[in-house]
Amino acid sequence: MMLATVILVLVLDLVNRTDCHDKQRYNIGGIFSDAIQEAAFRIATYTMNNKYPYSQIELVPSTSSVLPHNTLEAYRSTCGHLQNASIAIFGPGSSIASPFIQSLCDAKEIPHIETHRDFEMNRNDTLVNVHPHPRVLTDFFIDLIESFRWKKVIVIYDDDNNLLSVAPLLEFNNKKGRKVILKQLEYPDEQPGNYRPMLNKVKLLGEMQFVLACSIDILENVLKQLQQVGMMTEIYSYLITNLDLQTIDIEPFQYGGTNITGIRMIDPDLTEVKRISMAVRDSSDSHKLRVETALLIDAVQLFYETIYDLTIDRKMIIQARPINCKSTDNWKYGDSIINLMKSKSTLGLTGLMKFDNEGFRRDFKIDVLELYPQGLIKVGEWNSTLRTIDLQRPVVENFQKNLGDNLFNTTFIVLISLTPPYGMLKETTTQLIGNDRFEGFGIDVIKELSGILGFNYTFILQEDGLYGNRNKSTGKWNGMIREIIDGRADLAITDLTVTSERESAVDFTMPFMNLGISILYRKPEPVPPSLFMFASPFSFYVWLLLGISYFIVSLSFFVMGRLSPSEWQNPYPCVDEPEYLVNQFTIRNSFWFTMGALMQQGSELAPVAISTRTASGVWWLFVLIMVSSYTANLAAFLTVETLVTPFNDIDELAAQQEIKFGAKKNGATANYFRDSNLTKYKQVWSYMVHHPELMMDSNEDGVVKVENENYAFLMESTTIEYVTERHCTLARVGGLLDDKGYGIAMKRYSPYRNDLSTAVLQLQEKSILTGLKIKWWKEKRGGGRCASKSEAGEATPLDLKNVGGVFLVLFIGTILGMMGSFAEMTNCIYKRSRRENVPFKEQFMREMRFFVQFKQSVKEVNNLPPDSVSGKHLMNNSTKTIDYVKM
Ligand code: GLU
Repeated sequence: MMLATVILVLVLDLVNRTDCHDKQRYNIGGIFSDAIQEAAFRIATYTMNNKYPYSQIELVPSTSSVLPHNTLEAYRSTCGHLQNASIAIFGPGSSIASPFIQSLCDAKEIPHIETHRDFEMNRNDTLVNVHPHPRVLTDFFIDLIESFRWKKVIVIYDDDNNLLSVAPLLEFNNKKGRKVILKQLEYPDEQPGNYRPMLNKVKLLGEMQFVLACSIDILENVLKQLQQVGMMTEIYSYLITNLDLQTIDIEPFQYGGTNITGIRMIDPDLTEVKRISMAVRDSSDSHKLRVETALLIDAVQLFYETIYDLTIDRKMIIQARPINCKSTDNWKYGDSIINLMKSKSTLGLTGLMKFDNEGFRRDFKIDVLELYPQGLIKVGEWNSTLRTIDLQRPVVENFQKNLGDNLFNTTFIVLISLTPPYGMLKETTTQLIGNDRFEGFGIDVIKELSGILGFNYTFILQEDGLYGNRNKSTGKWNGMIREIIDGRADLAITDLTVTSERESAVDFTMPFMNLGISILYRKPEPVPPSLFMFASPFSFYVWLLLGISYFIVSLSFFVMGRLSPSEWQNPYPCVDEPEYLVNQFTIRNSFWFTMGALMQQGSELAPVAISTRTASGVWWLFVLIMVSSYTANLAAFLTVETLVTPFNDIDELAAQQEIKFGAKKNGATANYFRDSNLTKYKQVWSYMVHHPELMMDSNEDGVVKVENENYAFLMESTTIEYVTERHCTLARVGGLLDDKGYGIAMKRYSPYRNDLSTAVLQLQEKSILTGLKIKWWKEKRGGGRCASKSEAGEATPLDLKNVGGVFLVLFIGTILGMMGSFAEMTNCIYKRSRRENVPFKEQFMREMRFFVQFKQSVKEVNNLPPDSVSGKHLMNNSTKTIDYVKM
C-alpha cells in the first residue's frame, strides 16, 4: 500500500512539474526516518501547490531518508539539500540529529521547520517547531490531574524522553506535597516486551491512579499487559500522555470500565483530516493519522503560505540559490521568511498555528478524551493560553449502566454500630438471629437501598463501637474505617460523619443526613419572679413620668379651681345672697380628685368650670390609656416565664469556668476542633486535651453526664434532636457550628459508589429518608415524649411569687395609713391640750380610752379633732370667702 502511495505521489509530482512550468519554483528539503513522513511531505506539498489555482509559487519537495541516530548522514543530507538550492529544511524526525541541522541552517540563514518533540528551551533564530513544547503540555497534565483531584500519582514511563516530558509534573506534585512514584517499564532480558512481571509489582503498590508516559509503538502492548495482570478494571484510572492515543486499537479496553483519559491535537472527524489520512496511509480511518504526520503537513502549509504572502502579497522577489556547506555564505531571504512565519497564524490539521518570537507554538488547543464503551469520546478541551479545562462528560443513555445492574444479587457485609437510633438491638423476648436482631434508621436505609439496587446484605456489629480515627504517628486507621480498608466489611452505616480525612481512606456515598455540631445542655430554668413584678409593665421612666404628671395635673386643678369663678360656689344654696363662697378644689381635694381618677375609683368632686371639666376629660383619657396598657402588659408579665441559660453559644461556654464541657472521644466532633484554624475553636480543643476525663466514650455517656452534672456535651445536631425528644430536661443550646453529613462508607474506588449514591438521592427525593427520620426520632422508642409536655399551653394559676409584691404594697400602705391616723390624732390632741391648757397625757389617755370602746360610735364634741370644724375657724373676713375643707 505504502509503495502505491509513494508512486502516486511521484506521479502527481511529475504531472505538477510539467503542468506548472511557468510558476516560480522553490526547492524544499526534507530529512525523515520513515516513509510515511516522506509521503506526507510530498502530499502536503502537492496539496499546497494546488490549493491556490492562480498562485505562481510551486514548492518542489526532495527528501532524504536518514536513520534517527545517524547524525552525520543527516548533516550530509542537509548540505545536499542546500547545494540543491532548497529554501527550507523540514525535519529531522528525532531530536538526536536536530541540533546539528539547526546550527547549520542558522549559519546559512535557511528556514528550518521541525515537527518533533523538542525539550530545548533555547532555539536558534531560523527554527520554527510546530510541535507544542513538552513543558506546555505538562502544564496541561498538571491542570488535568488537579481537576481529577488525584492525591498520589504513579508515573509509568518507558524511556528518558518520556520521563523528561512529565518532569515538571513531578516537580509540581512534590511542591504540593503529593507523593509521586516513578516506575520504568522493564522486561526480563530474555523476554523483550514482557512488562507483566514489572506491572505485577506495580499492582502490589495498591495504587489506582497512573500517568502512562510511553511511546506509541509500545502503548497498545502495555495496555494489553495491564489488562492481563488485572489492572484494567473500574477501580483503575490512567492518564495517557501520548498525543497519538487515538491511533491505537483501544477496543479491547473500552468495555472494562477502566478510567482512561487521553489527549489529541487532531480531530479525526474533520474532512481535511480524513482526506489527508486517506492519502497518507491509504486508509479511510482518519483516527490512524499520527500527530507528527499532521504537524508536518501543517508545517508545509505554514511555509507555503509564508512564501505566498511574501511573493504575492508583499511582492518580494525571492531568489533561491545553491549554498555550499563549506563556504561562509548564507541566504539573504531566510530571515524575512522566518520572521513572517513566526508572526503568522493559520489554521491547520492540528488547529491554530501561532508562534512566539522564539518559534514556540502558542495558543493551541488540546482535546481531552475519555474511554467509554463507544470508544474514545472528546469530553473537553484545554487552551494553552487560558489554561482552563471544562470537562463535560457525555450523558448518553447507553453510556450509563442501568442502576442496580452491577449490584443485583451481590451480597454486602454491612458494618453497623449499636448507636441509637442508627443501629439498635430489637427489644423482644424471643431469640432472634442474623439481620433480624437489629433495627434502626441505618438498618432501614440499607433495606431501602437493597430494594432499589437488588443487593443482599448481612449486618455485622462493630463490637468496640469505634467509628474510625487515624493515628497521627502511625497513620493507621481504627474502627469501622479499618474494617472497610481491610475488606472485612463492604459497607459501614451509622452516624458516620463524612470527613476529608476519612474520605482519603475510604469512599462515601452522598450524605443521607445533614447535620452540624451543637451543644447539649440542661434546659434553661425560669427566673424567679421579682416581688415588684406588678411594676414591670412600665419602665422606671414611665413610672417617674406618671408620678410627675400626677403631681403637675393635681396642682393645675388647684390653680384652675382658684382661677375659675364657676368653681367658687355658694355653700348654702338656699341662701340667695351668701356671705362667702367656697371652692372645692383645695390643694388636698385636687390631689384626691386626680388620684381617684388614676385609680379608676372617682371621687365626689365634680368640676363645674369649663376649664376644669376639659382638664378632667383629658386626664381621664390619659388615665384610661395608661391603665389599659398597664393591665394588658401586666397579664403578659405575669404569665410569661423568663428563662435563663448560663451560656448561649460555644464562645460563652468556652469563656466560662463553671460549666465543664467535652465531646465524644476521637469522634468527628472532637476532630473538628482539633483541625480547626479558628483561635476560639483551638481554645476549645486545648481545653479538651487538658481535660481528657471530660471526653466521653459514647454519646450515651455524654447524655448521662449532662443530666447528672453541670456539664455541656458537644455533639451532632441530629443526635441532640433524638436525645431531646426523650430526655425532657435537656435541650440544644446555640446554632450549628458547621455543616456536614453522614454517609455510607465503602472501600476506596468502589465501583458501587455511584449506584449507591444515586439510590440514596432517590430515597431523599421520594421523602423516604424523611419518613424514616420521623419514625426513628419522633415515634419509636419513646419519641415525642417531651413534645406533649411542652406543647401543653394551658394557663397556669398565678402563684404568690407572681403577686406577692402587690400584697406587700397593700400591707405597707395600710401600716402607713394607720401610722398617719395615729400621728394625726396625736397632733390634734397636742394642739387641743395647748389650746385648752389641759395636760397632753390626760387628753391622750382620754382619747385612747374612747378608742378602745369599739361599740361606741358617737363622740363628744370636745373629742373631735380641731381641724374637723375648721370651716368655721378659718373664715377669712377680708374676702368673705372660705375654703371648703371638710370632706
Ligand atoms: N458522628 C461522629 C463520627 O463519625 C461521632 C459523634 C461525634 O463525634 O459527635 O465520628
